[in-house]
Amino acid sequence: MAEDTQEVNLYQKRIPIITRSVKGKFRNFKTAVLLLAYSIYFSLPWIPWHHLDAPSQAVLFDLPGRRFFIFGLEIFPQDIFWLSLLLFIAAAVLFFATSLVGRAFCGYFCFQTLWTDAFIWIEHWIQGERPARTRLAKQPWNGEKILKVGGTHALQLLLAFWTAFTFAAYFTYAPQFFVDFVTANAATVGYATVLILTLTTYVAAAHAREQICTYVCPYARFQGVMYEPETLAPNYNAKRGEGAAGRITAKPGLKTLEERHSKGHGDCIDCGFCVQVCPAGIDIRNGLQYQCISCGLCIDACDNIMDSMGYPRGLIRYDSEKNLAQDVPAKPHLEWFRLRTLGYGASIILMVGFLFYTIFTRTTFELSVQQVRQPLFVTLSNGDIRNRYQVRVTNKSGANQDYRVTVKGLPAADIDMGGMDVLHIDNGRSRMANVSVILSPTEAAKAPSFEFEVSPVNNPKEVESVTAHFHSNTENR
Ligand code: SF4
Ligand code: SF4
Repeated sequence: MAEDTQEVNLYQKRIPIITRSVKGKFRNFKTAVLLLAYSIYFSLPWIPWHHLDAPSQAVLFDLPGRRFFIFGLEIFPQDIFWLSLLLFIAAAVLFFATSLVGRAFCGYFCFQTLWTDAFIWIEHWIQGERPARTRLAKQPWNGEKILKVGGTHALQLLLAFWTAFTFAAYFTYAPQFFVDFVTANAATVGYATVLILTLTTYVAAAHAREQICTYVCPYARFQGVMYEPETLAPNYNAKRGEGAAGRITAKPGLKTLEERHSKGHGDCIDCGFCVQVCPAGIDIRNGLQYQCISCGLCIDACDNIMDSMGYPRGLIRYDSEKNLAQDVPAKPHLEWFRLRTLGYGASIILMVGFLFYTIFTRTTFELSVQQVRQPLFVTLSNGDIRNRYQVRVTNKSGANQDYRVTVKGLPAADIDMGGMDVLHIDNGRSRMANVSVILSPTEAAKAPSFEFEVSPVNNPKEVESVTAHFHSNTENR
């Protein structure tokens, strides 16, 4: 028997989505988040903050100096552990939020959503509401179209450029970078970064838009695993909307709920407003779909229609599958007490607590000791045995410091510090002292352990110590 074959296109050609604007609480929340995020992102590199030996910038990722400044906090490569922990916390918060309220992160906080939203706002501002934009898209090119479409893309490119420039400004002293940039004196890497980020921001937010969420972002694909029947997500109440006889427009004789219900029709008047506002271009009435970013705009749209018709709100609302499956759904509410949410919540609390603990208890300097292993030991002409150690001290105190290096547990005569028992170290820098320990064969045979101790000269009570071991061919005999 011949097998039926069907060719399936893995990539669907994009149909541009022209969204209608909408008013409502979710729209207001999205706008508030956008304004807050933009204020923070665009202003941070310009906030002055005094640092001892770095440009006065509150948030500065000083790559040449190998340290990050976040206001008063100076982070060194040795603190990379914090970054890893932050990533784990971010992942746990994402999973926690998804299990409670679906892809709310995508709908309100993701960069792609925020920038797409701003770019759509520019379109709306220059070209008008959805019908005007649709008309403009269909009409042949003329003066009006060139002016409006050209103006839109010019403004979008400007926003993309400023986004890219701001990103680069986090890595250098922003005011100086601005002057160097406009006077063609900035480093090539600065221009390249701004150019690449301008183009990628422009393409992602002006052209690709929901395609990034649908085809590029992996989160859309694995969100299904994190959804539970109790998860709140924008849902269409199909029982209420369709009734027994299906949805129907609000024509004469079918305008009031009594009229509609008496004929078996549901409350959805099939106006399509929920579809027109959707940035993902989907119809929520077909059920929860992986393209949905949980932005809630369809809820605002439908609530507006319900208000205008005098029907109760909530035909589309944040609700759970479990609740909507009931004969009479209850008021939607967050279900915190589930194993998954409790697990995510507990792990977030633990990780955040540990992060703050390590930040507030971090020492002002770091000590590491490495034994020179090539060779592990040397037998001198008089039979004594020498081990060598590299003692590295990193100054994280925020000021230049002198550090005293001492060895405890061995007679002073056995130690050769090479004149480096006091190390002067600039803030943020490391220095290494080469220390030799020379023992007689009898002492060496005991394979002694001893302590390297380091403390700031001006604060001898702050001590870091590391245990070291002595090796020889006589040990353990
Ligand atoms: S269906 Fe569309 S408008 Fe509604 S929440 Fe999902 S992405 Fe937003
Ligand atoms: S906005 Fe509400 S009433 Fe209009 S089509 Fe969507 S679900 Fe139906």
